[in-house]
Amino acid sequence: MDNESQMVPERLDFIRQMVADDLEAGKWDRRVHTRFPPEPNGYLHIGHAKSICLNYGIAADFGGKFNLRFDDTNPCKEEQEYVDSIIEDVRWLGADWQDRLLYGSDYFQQMYDWAVALVKKGKAYVCDLTADQTRDYRGTLTQAGKNSPYRSRSVEENLDLFARMKNGEFPDGSKTLKAKIDMSHPNINMRDPVMYRILHASHHRTGDAWCIYPMYDWAHGLEDSIEGITHSICTLEFENHRPLYDWFLDELGIYHPQQIEFARLNLTNTVMSKRKLLQLVKEGHVRGWDDPRMPTICGLRRRGFSPEAIRQFCKLIGVNKFNSTVDYALLEHCLRDHLNAASPRVMAVLNPLKVVITNYPDGQVEEMAAVNNPENPAAGTRKVPFSKVLYIEREDFMEEPPKKFFRLAPGREVRLRYAYFVTCMDVVKDAAGNIAELRCTYDPATRGGDAPDGRKVKATLHWVSAAHALDAEVRLYEHLFTKENPDEAEEGKTFLDNISPDSLQIVTGCKVEPALKNTRPLDRWQFERLGYFCTDPDTRDNSLVFNKTVGLKDTWAKVQQKEQA
Ligand code: ATP
Ligand code: MG
Repeated sequence: MDNESQMVPERLDFIRQMVADDLEAGKWDRRVHTRFPPEPNGYLHIGHAKSICLNYGIAADFGGKFNLRFDDTNPCKEEQEYVDSIIEDVRWLGADWQDRLLYGSDYFQQMYDWAVALVKKGKAYVCDLTADQTRDYRGTLTQAGKNSPYRSRSVEENLDLFARMKNGEFPDGSKTLKAKIDMSHPNINMRDPVMYRILHASHHRTGDAWCIYPMYDWAHGLEDSIEGITHSICTLEFENHRPLYDWFLDELGIYHPQQIEFARLNLTNTVMSKRKLLQLVKEGHVRGWDDPRMPTICGLRRRGFSPEAIRQFCKLIGVNKFNSTVDYALLEHCLRDHLNAASPRVMAVLNPLKVVITNYPDGQVEEMAAVNNPENPAAGTRKVPFSKVLYIEREDFMEEPPKKFFRLAPGREVRLRYAYFVTCMDVVKDAAGNIAELRCTYDPATRGGDAPDGRKVKATLHWVSAAHALDAEVRLYEHLFTKENPDEAEEGKTFLDNISPDSLQIVTGCKVEPALKNTRPLDRWQFERLGYFCTDPDTRDNSLVFNKTVGLKDTWAKVQQKEQA
């Protein structure tokens, strides 16, 4: 689409520019090596996809390498379930780590040895301040901190205490290992940050081998260094941690990657914090991590998103240094763009209204040729059975049509897609006065959908043959949150109060064409005139379930106009 080529930046983003400059200058031995370092304490979301596409994209663009590394240094909230889901999601997005599936916890011994080296250099010490005291001693943005009374311990004493911390002689929280930097440093992160804490907790991979665990700032640069990462890309919150990242590596005198920060992705009408996503799942506000309303990768997948659509989205939003919020409509725009090209068309009726073609022979069945995908001639055609009794969409008929309603009405002729022109002759009602069925006639000369006499109709309807249709359940979704910014809650309320009561609507008794008989979970479809749908994993042999992925109408152009105005 034209639109798109305009939106794709011609210039390299600032990180790619940096990588290109480094290559040009011969830095890093002309290597490019990036990583995606998730902590396995939750499922990945669309924000992580931005980071994955960026890190993997750079490695791919510059002929470099990409590592998938679990930053699994905190035993408390980490679980194998999350590890497994992350591996599945990163692979599904198309990022290839080859044989480099790595774990920070594999480096615990090396990290410990380096900590000992810093102690020996007089650059780290064992501190007995409690967590609260440590906070008090740290000072504030406007006030310098105070030196810990344990800061002047001798190297010998520190080595002894640190070894005993490791050996499990002390209870949780009783001691920490801290870097000895500067308690009056203008950057609070540099005020003797904690490197290790005592935690008698089992780790999902190392079990009970360790009872001291490294803090993020200490561990992360070491992991990058061990793996020979060249460009360590992270989100903006870490910008003022960079001096510490650099300090540790410089003091150790080991290989030193370049940390680069970019703005994280925020999206309208959704939350992206792992804590909040966990809360939505744990408290049952959604049906699970992969609920199609969730911004998780597995939720988007179940909703019917394709990896291509997500990658295109990440490309369009680009990379920069300013935090902003992207409109959800842009994500849907990318989604429609790919689904339009890739999804086979089928006919499905969500809210069926019976139609009897009175002049059509009883018992006759015709196979009408239907185009599978007008965007892709190679997708070919299929046969759709047509017979005397059909279903159309209830909304496609009005007994007393207003001016602009061009679909079926008493006495009016419309086209049934790929089939015939039909005219509504009679409306049959039940005892309660509800429309139960329509009686129509068809014109045999219009087979295929055109009249030899050239007469026109104003509407084309989708339909299914009643005798051949399969029953289905269809789940319709809206945004999970009513507000663009769900965190904007009134006094005493939270983001949970902004959950939309209408975000899931389950429609049963839908009728779909027989081509869907053998559909597999996650197959993607366009239901003609209705939108894009995806087969839900709840589908069983005799009960089909579909999720509505997104409607046909693109709202992105409207959003853009609004933004420009
Ligand atoms: P936590 O608070 O648990 O650290 P996190 O979302 O930062 O949450 P990580 O597992 O540490 O989770 O994230 C892995 C990588 O994904 C990090 O490099 C992080 O910077 C990046 N990332 C996380 N959220 C976003 C986002 N919204 N946009 C872009 N990148 C993100
Ligand atoms: Mg993080």
